Formats: sequence, structure tokens, C-alpha cells
Amino acid sequence: MTIATGPRLLPMLSEQAKASLDPYMALIVGYRKSGLSLNHIIGCPLDCGYCVRHFWANYDVKIPHLLCPTNQAIEQLVNHHAFQPHITPIQLFNKATDPFLPGVKPHLFQVLQTLDKRGFTNHVLVITRFKVTAADMAVLERLRHLRVTLLFTYSGITDPRIEPIAKTNTTLSSIRTATSHKNRTGVVLYWRPIVPGWNDTPDTMAHVLDSGRDVDAIVFTGYYHKPENADHLRHLGVDVPYADDYARRKVMPAELDARVVAAWRASGITTPLFRKTSCGVAYTHAAPDYNGHWGVRELCDICPAAQQQRCADDHREPTPADMDAVLAHLAYTTDYLIEDGHVWTHGLGEQRRYAMQHTLRHQIWEIDQPHYLHAHGRSLNGHAANPAQVAALAEIREYFENATRYEDD
Ligand code: SF4
Repeated sequence: MTIATGPRLLPMLSEQAKASLDPYMALIVGYRKSGLSLNHIIGCPLDCGYCVRHFWANYDVKIPHLLCPTNQAIEQLVNHHAFQPHITPIQLFNKATDPFLPGVKPHLFQVLQTLDKRGFTNHVLVITRFKVTAADMAVLERLRHLRVTLLFTYSGITDPRIEPIAKTNTTLSSIRTATSHKNRTGVVLYWRPIVPGWNDTPDTMAHVLDSGRDVDAIVFTGYYHKPENADHLRHLGVDVPYADDYARRKVMPAELDARVVAAWRASGITTPLFRKTSCGVAYTHAAPDYNGHWGVRELCDICPAAQQQRCADDHREPTPADMDAVLAHLAYTTDYLIEDGHVWTHGLGEQRRYAMQHTLRHQIWEIDQPHYLHAHGRSLNGHAANPAQVAALAEIREYFENATRYEDD
């Protein structure tokens, strides 16, 4: 069984086509929760029905295209104002293509080898569901500095209308190849999307867990439920759950979370299970979570004791001096309020917030809703909050605890 893989030599996108791209697709370096993300190749032939490219009108582009030459993209990455050697986690081609497609892979390796030659020890996340060979693993294993983690998206979906690659054994065989050739490369089974009716029977869960028997970590999440991908799948005749409850972000109901954890406990495998991508990635390199999820302790109940200890040892509430130093270093401005496990900020926007979060390895939250909290021009550092403000803050805090649990990585 074969699937389309795109050309070996990638075309450059024309200036005219670039000008009509959605700004998010046109963005070559952007900050996301799992790291600073490099995406100068967009387009993918793999046709996963739930793909996020539906949201930015890129799903119909089946041939990967370069937005700029790879050497220029690398310079954009390392010259990004938030890039910090050895600190900033990096993601490669995680938005709009698969890094192991034949035409994309040489660019992936060029980026990795160039960064490694500069001695950077940053985490690098590479997400794929495609073919990874022993020769590919040899290239990764020759890197000396970067902490690379391969995350294999595999969730036991068998319906080729949802995932055409499900017709093949490609991802499972890549996982086997990676685990049998890895030494310094982290290997994660990225168990996503878990969707009721598609892949949540006990048998399917047991099969996925068994496929993760030899990887370093398993990370599980739900999927993005939005009208664009739901319409596409429903048009193909696929049953899509959650009706039109599109406002929710990554969908992982508590009941489904509990079933996943129970299936993992019953499976008999010893591979640790994580709810958050950064937790699984950090664990594979014996490092504390770089998103500071230890501050949202309910996420940590399934984490190995040694890893919990690592995160606990690393956890330090930033002082005002720490906050001021990081803000000055990144040239950001915000009021802030330091609380147990997280720091409230205001008006930074997601990208800046994550840059701070990764620098401090501490949760940085945005207090943008209750305008009345600072309606009197009070700094968030103010102490004399009235009872209404305290209640409002409690509500927002709860919102953020939830958001942290479900937000996109
Ligand atoms: S202890 Fe918590 S924050 Fe640290 S890796 Fe485990 S789950 Fe993540």
C-alpha cells in the first residue's frame, strides 16, 4: 500500500502565492507552548482529515513548498529575539508539513546539523508519522549537542478517511526502527488525537500502549475540534463527536482522560505516561519540565517519582528581581503578580508569555479578562484587592488551570 509523499526537490513558493497566505502560515519563526517553532516549509500530502491546516486555508496544498532557503530560515531562528542558546526549546516543521517526507528531510537534517555544529544544547522537538529509517537514526545519533526528541504521532486510528496513512504500517515500523537505533535521541509515542468513536475502545487503547512498550515516554492528548476540520470529515461520511461544541480547545474530557490512565495502568507496560508534551520531552532527557507544569500539580499524579523529584528540585518561585531581569532581557513590559505556582502578567500575548515561561521554567499566565481588576489603574502588584476582585481572580485562576490542562502544544 503506497501513499503520496510529495517531490524530492521542493519548489519555492512564488512571491504572489506568499502574499496571499494566511499570516500564520506565512510566519517562519513563531513561539508556541512547546518551543520556538521553525516552519519555512508548508504543504503536506498525507491528508490527515483533522489537520490544523484546515484552519488557515492550507489543507489543499499537497506539495510541500519552501518559503525561503533553509540557511536563511536558520538565521531567522537563531536571530529571533527570544532565541536563547541552550534554553529555548525548538520545534522543527511542526505546523504545516511532516519533517520526514522525502523532500523535507534534507532540510530537517540541515537545520539540525547546523545548530548542532554551533554547540547548542537546546531541546529540539520533531513530530512525525512518516517513515524513519535506520540511516535517519544514524544521522540523528551523530549529533553531539542538541537534545533531540522524535515524537511519533500514532493513535490506533484505522479509518483511512480520517488518516490515509492508517492503511499502512508506516508509523509503527518507524517507531520500532527508532527505538532499536536510539541512544541519545529521545523517542516519544505521541498518542493523539484520542477521539471517542475513532480510537477509544479498550482494544485500541491496549494496542497503542503496547506499541509504546519500548519508547521513552508516551504523551496523550485530544484533538482540535473546529468547524473547518469537522465539516471536512463529515463530508467524507466520518462521525465527528462533540456536536458543534467548537469553542473548546483541545478536547479531552475528564472521563476520557481517566480511561486513558486506567488503560495505561492495566497495560503492564513500564513506559511513563504524560499529559503534556514538554513533560514527556523533558523526561526523555532526564530534565525538569521546561513549562513549569509542577505549578499545576494535578497534571503530575501519573509522573514517575524520580521525574517529580526533578521538577520539584527545579521549581523555584521567581522573585520580582527575576521577573524584572527576564523582562529586561527580552525587552518586554508588563505588570505582574507572583502567586503560588504561576505568575500573572498582562498584555504580553501568547508568544512573549511562552518565551518567559521557558526562560523561568515557570507558568506565566495572562490576566486579560476582568478589566475591573485593574480598572483603577492599579498595578497587579497591588495588594489591597477588594473581595470582588479576589473572587474574580479566583475565577480566572480556575480558568487558567483548565486552559493549562487542555491548551495546544
Ligand atoms: S512532575 Fe509534573 S511537571 Fe514534572 S514532568 Fe512530571 S508531570 Fe510534568
